[in-house]
Amino acid sequence: MTSRTDFHMVAHSLVEQLITDRRDLHQHPELGFQEFRTAKIIAERLRELGYDVTEGVAETGVLGVIPPKQGGKLAMLRFDMDALPIEEQNHVEYRSLAEGKMHACGHDGHVAIGLGVAAALMENRAALGDGGVKLLFQPAEEGGGGAERMVQAGAMENPRPDVSLGMHIWADLPLGVANVRSGPIMASADEFTIRVTGKGGHGAQPHVTVDAVLVAAQMIVALHTIVSRNINPEQPAVLTVGAVHSGTAHNIIAHDAVLKGTIRSFDTDVRETVRRRLYEVVTGIASAYDAHAEVEYSVTCPATVCADDATAVVREAAETILGPANVIDTQRTMGSEDMAVLLNDVPGCYFFLGAKNEQHQLGVYAHHHPRFDFDEAVLPLGVAIMCEATTRYLNAAKN
Ligand SMILES: [Zn+2]
Ligand SMILES: [Zn+2]
Repeated sequence: MTSRTDFHMVAHSLVEQLITDRRDLHQHPELGFQEFRTAKIIAERLRELGYDVTEGVAETGVLGVIPPKQGGKLAMLRFDMDALPIEEQNHVEYRSLAEGKMHACGHDGHVAIGLGVAAALMENRAALGDGGVKLLFQPAEEGGGGAERMVQAGAMENPRPDVSLGMHIWADLPLGVANVRSGPIMASADEFTIRVTGKGGHGAQPHVTVDAVLVAAQMIVALHTIVSRNINPEQPAVLTVGAVHSGTAHNIIAHDAVLKGTIRSFDTDVRETVRRRLYEVVTGIASAYDAHAEVEYSVTCPATVCADDATAVVREAAETILGPANVIDTQRTMGSEDMAVLLNDVPGCYFFLGAKNEQHQLGVYAHHHPRFDFDEAVLPLGVAIMCEATTRYLNAAKN
């Protein structure tokens, strides 16, 4: 093994730049696939540092590569760039300057960390051994399908990585604590729309109608038995009907009804069972009531699943930087994250890095809240862990 670089120290020397970058990005938030300014800053910085840069991947994505030497492995490090359509309510000097847009998920911090990692790894290139890195700056994580588009655009080919690594600044964890866990860490998210067609008519003549409201009501009740009666209680799953639209007046039996909802799970079999039962329940009830039903089902995001070997490496890295007592594995969430798509393509690890500091009122509002903020001391920790994990992986792979 090559002599070890102290990435804790390296990252610490970058603190000022990290905070400057994060605040600049925070003041100029850009929504999914519109991250033009952000992408330009990234591409310029990567070029200055000496990376092979590709711009305009899936609109605004940027790739920066240090190719591996003969026989060396390649690590892909992913950082998402997009902001949210939220009007910021924080009164800080680095408040968003873009009306109705805000970095309320921490992706400004992710880009700053990515730029820090880029500098740290290039300056300590020897620590990569024969390995190389591909820094992947991704657009549109927040529901735009950015990861999928990056894969389609070939971001995971030429050169193809051997491992995928990513992280999220996490307001639910104290600063200096990381949650590194193998297996599923975030849920899959599917959406469904059910259109029920009955036969409308007079409210006083139900016998000559097919009541779409009643059929929809039976469906809602029956759909809620899927998780409670078809899924193993040890396996988490959620089915939520979030919207019902039907009817117009007191005395009219509704002709049609629309239900909309979401399904979350960690496991592909569970997900398939819920999906299959949804179709069966909907078509069965429709036919029992002489109505017609159509289901529109869209797969929004698969579950984010961490591979055992890569997770072990990230755990060692996090323990080195934060101390073993500060690395936990107890958290996972039914929220979803499109890093899942990249991990499905090339397995690896995605982890949460705590950024809450209650004393300074930072990280006390949830992600996506108009007062979301985090402790910037998380930035060098993110850089250090990502660099440590990358170099450990690349050197271990070499034997
Ligand atoms: Zn988010
Ligand atoms: Zn996010």
